[in-house]
Amino acid sequence: MKTYRWFLLLSFRQRIILLLTIAMSLVIVVTGFVINPESRQNGKINLSTDMSIREIAPQLGVTGKALARELNLPLDAPKAKPLAELSITDDQLSHVVGHLRSHVDATEKYYTFFALVLVGFVYLNMLGRPDVSDIKQKTSWYPRFPYVVVLLFSVAVAGFYLGKSPNPMEGAVKVFKSVVGLYPDPLAKVIAFIFFLGLAVIGNKMVCGWACPFGALQELIYSIPGLRKLKRCKLPFVLTNTIRAILFVLMFLLLFGFVGERKGFVIYHYINPFNLFNLHFETIGIVMTVIGAVVGSFFVYRPFCQIICPFGLISWVFERLSITRMRINRDVCTKCGACMRACPSDAAKDRVYGKKFPADCFSCARCLKVCPTDAIRYGSIFKK
Ligand code: SF4
Ligand code: SF4
Repeated sequence: MKTYRWFLLLSFRQRIILLLTIAMSLVIVVTGFVINPESRQNGKINLSTDMSIREIAPQLGVTGKALARELNLPLDAPKAKPLAELSITDDQLSHVVGHLRSHVDATEKYYTFFALVLVGFVYLNMLGRPDVSDIKQKTSWYPRFPYVVVLLFSVAVAGFYLGKSPNPMEGAVKVFKSVVGLYPDPLAKVIAFIFFLGLAVIGNKMVCGWACPFGALQELIYSIPGLRKLKRCKLPFVLTNTIRAILFVLMFLLLFGFVGERKGFVIYHYINPFNLFNLHFETIGIVMTVIGAVVGSFFVYRPFCQIICPFGLISWVFERLSITRMRINRDVCTKCGACMRACPSDAAKDRVYGKKFPADCFSCARCLKVCPTDAIRYGSIFKK
């Protein structure tokens, strides 16, 4: 009903923009599927422990070092010897092959991410607030329905249909893994990382808020209408961000071999919840992370994003470069607290009080329709 009222309030210009955005996004998604019909290697490949690391690694799209790492061998293990001579069993090999193949990028997913961010960008900047409406109609602004549709699409298509990779979290981790020589094509990993960062700064954490399937899943659970009555809490940002940063530093130290004896060890591999989208639960840590994030989302906003995700941390740092974002007109703001109550985290509060390093804003739009003095807008940082 609210969405219908919102649609009726849209100006002719906005309705045209809405139609064009939907059409353009669909074209982008379909183009991705047409250009990359089978980018994931689903075909059978025959690998055995009679083969060497040097023979197997290229077929899995990783370097010899990366394969050695996955097989729990030292990075400098002999690459020309048959795996059987290195005491690797068939079971071990097939487990590692399953894991590495689940990481092969579904290239069409990049198009899907781009299309979802495009929808979010246009909605927040041009459509959410009808041109010809005043503050009295603010309850019709930014209805949830279009956002929920985008989130469902993200979970269904960018998640379960296209599988776990690529995703923003792995984009951040793989760029560091390529520095220690675990991928044969470091440039491709750098480009993927820049792609996700670009989608994060075009609008504040837009790729997290509107496109990432695991972020979308948590957002959807948190938004279930009947569950809003549950007692919920906002986690103190200083605590969540400290844990997230400690994990990131630990990843760095272990990956580069500054700590531990296994250079190339990737801590996030053991708690990567994106495995959910392949239904491939390799470690107990992954199962616990998925359950923790899903159950936790009933009570806390995006627990995985706030406490663990390395891309969440990096995109938080890069929020300062966001071209469009939620903005507060301090001359009009009375600090009444309406946006702080609507915001599921400390993000609105930190911005109202002008904190230098505010909590992550996921561009969820909850705060954009509650301000009684019309002090909050979503828009370009270049606009006065
Ligand atoms: S912070 Fe959340 S939404 Fe962003 S990449 Fe990580 S899991 Fe996805
Ligand atoms: S409600 Fe909070 S997280 Fe959502 S857009 Fe506003 S400040 Fe950002």
